[in-house]
Amino acid sequence: MGGTFNPVHFGHLAAADEALSGFSLERIVFMPAGIPPHKESRDIASSEDRLLMTVIATASNEAFEVSRYETEKKTPSYTVETMEYYANRYPDAEIFFITGIDAVLEISTWHEPDGIFKYGKMIAVTRPGYPLDDRKDIAGYQTSRDLASRDAKIFIMRVPGVDVSGTEIRSRVRDRQPVRYLLPERVFEYIKERKLYIT
Ligand code: ATP
Ligand code: MG
Repeated sequence: MGGTFNPVHFGHLAAADEALSGFSLERIVFMPAGIPPHKESRDIASSEDRLLMTVIATASNEAFEVSRYETEKKTPSYTVETMEYYANRYPDAEIFFITGIDAVLEISTWHEPDGIFKYGKMIAVTRPGYPLDDRKDIAGYQTSRDLASRDAKIFIMRVPGVDVSGTEIRSRVRDRQPVRYLLPERVFEYIKERKLYIT
């Protein structure tokens, strides 16, 4: 599951858990992005902080792990390269790139989007604010809600709506508004201790 995780919150965790169960996955690798090509660098906590918060948030779930692959890279994190790396590392595994529907709707702006499907498929999780009218495909890629549909490249997975975003958490922290129950308690403590997002 890719993202900036700036910070990780219950929306990410609920989506990951739903994918784990709905697709009978063995594990979910959270992959904080190093230099996110689509984001401005202002307002982004350091890679180490984002990585540590993700580790803290996932520590109690045996099926969740966190990878340093993208944060240790010196070049921008492209999904196609990450998928290639994992496909080579686990040649017998079936790999899904999990991402939110908001990100998938922009897939045509990604670096080599077609290349991704050489290495695996995608699971696009629903997210409040990004309704999916029953469109048959996304930017020309066949989609399905049904695992049995062999040709689909992108699976759309409905997740109970958790209407929270990193952007909202950052702006609430800056405005001294409550965020405590939007993310794991220990991540909340970490943000306070490290004084993240207050300026
Ligand atoms: P930001 O507002 O900074 O973009 P974000 O909440 O969107 O933060 P990201 O790190 O961008 O978090 O998200 C990583 C992935 O998780 C993306 O694919 C995104 O679509 C998905 N995601 C994030 N929040 C939710 C949510 N509340 N429900 C479902 N999916 C989510
Ligand atoms: Mg986002």
